[in-house]
Amino acid sequence: MLSFWEKDHFLDYDHVIIGGGIVGLSTAVSIKEKAPQKKVLVLERGVFPTGASTKNAGFSCFGSLTELLSDLAAMSSDEVLKLVEWRWKGLQLLRKRLGESQIDYHQYGGYELLTQEQSSALDQMNRVNDLLRPLFRKNVYSIADDKIKVFGFNNNSVAHMVFNPFEGQIHTGKMMKTLQHLATSLKIEVLTGVLVESIEEYHDGVKVIIDDDLKFNTRNLALCTNAFSKKLIPELPLEPGRGTVLITEPIPGLPFKGTFHYDEGYYYFRNYEDHIIFGGGRNLDIEAERTTDFAIREQIMKKLQYDLKHLILPDRKFKIAHSWVGIMAFGDTKQPILSKHSHRIFLGLRLGGMGVAIGSQLGLELSDMMLAD
Ligand SMILES: Cc1cc2nc3c(=O)[nH]c(=O)nc-3n(C[C@H](O)[C@H](O)[C@H](O)COP(=O)(O)OP(=O)(O)OC[C@H]3O[C@@H](n4cnc5c(N)ncnc54)[C@H](O)[C@@H]3O)c2cc1C
Repeated sequence: MLSFWEKDHFLDYDHVIIGGGIVGLSTAVSIKEKAPQKKVLVLERGVFPTGASTKNAGFSCFGSLTELLSDLAAMSSDEVLKLVEWRWKGLQLLRKRLGESQIDYHQYGGYELLTQEQSSALDQMNRVNDLLRPLFRKNVYSIADDKIKVFGFNNNSVAHMVFNPFEGQIHTGKMMKTLQHLATSLKIEVLTGVLVESIEEYHDGVKVIIDDDLKFNTRNLALCTNAFSKKLIPELPLEPGRGTVLITEPIPGLPFKGTFHYDEGYYYFRNYEDHIIFGGGRNLDIEAERTTDFAIREQIMKKLQYDLKHLILPDRKFKIAHSWVGIMAFGDTKQPILSKHSHRIFLGLRLGGMGVAIGSQLGLELSDMMLAD
């Protein structure tokens, strides 16, 4: 049973945010930056955030050439440009807000590996460069075939490489820790290990229900629970998608630095110091990977190991040090959901494989909506 003191002083807030990942914390920070007097509470079910924000591969990227070409087949040019702009602005804000050295930001550039069959993408490179020029002021993509040999990739499989100088990499753990510290320094209350069971909206606020005894009251609420949001609002148009990542033991003399993508972004690898971080393979069984179960699928691990051995590190020895999974969210479109769901409830969710890029900007825009309410 709660005490008088707890009821009097612990339960009422101006803004409650459910979910302590990059979007939830960024939203809270943006609110406090603009309105320091507001009482802001973030509720996170895990001891650490347990979705994708502490599990990702740390690519600071906004789309490879073939990813954007596949987006252009499904969306208008304006929509694709808006999405890239969102990611790029989000990355600028993240770097500025947290500090590049704090998050171990390195702009080694990014590359896409193309097979011979995929080389027709190069015919459309100028079109995509023209589309992105208003944002970057120069060509984003250029051919870098000379690097195939320098980096030691299997040149029977890799026919071309496309370079993007604007890509970088971060240390995901340092990024989230720095964001948590910033939140605390702004007097945002972050409670972890708190699973929200349900939410009830009233005309003048929302009740956030943890159990029979513990219920928080807030003027308005943001749901930043990404792949797990249907527990609280079942009709939301999104599905979970599991991502698998591994890291090797250090590889002395690793011949490349940077971020790398292939198969329309379904596979991605990078250096972390002298290790390789390698992830992907969701496309091997998209249906089965539409899950919130944190289990590693053997079929995917085998494929990652195969590609490491035959494509990325042919003729070199390596050992896998560790592997893990994280859960992101997908829908009919790659646009995240940023909306006022009802009178007092706001949504900032449905972030897929480039959520680190979008997270800070999404939080900024969500905070504007909540403060205007
Ligand atoms: C393996 C993997 C690799 C990736 N690599 C990259 C990359 O290199 N670059 C990139 O830009 N993006 C990458 N992403 C995507 C990116 O990590 C996500 O899009 C982003 O982190 C989503 O942030 P979020 O805050 O929306 O969600 P999350 O980080 O999932 O946060 C949601 C939080 O809500 C909490 N929660 C859920 N339900 C409740 C509840 N009922 N009560 C309380 N708390 C709750 C969860 O515990 C979770 O911490 C990757 C994702 C994965 C899985």
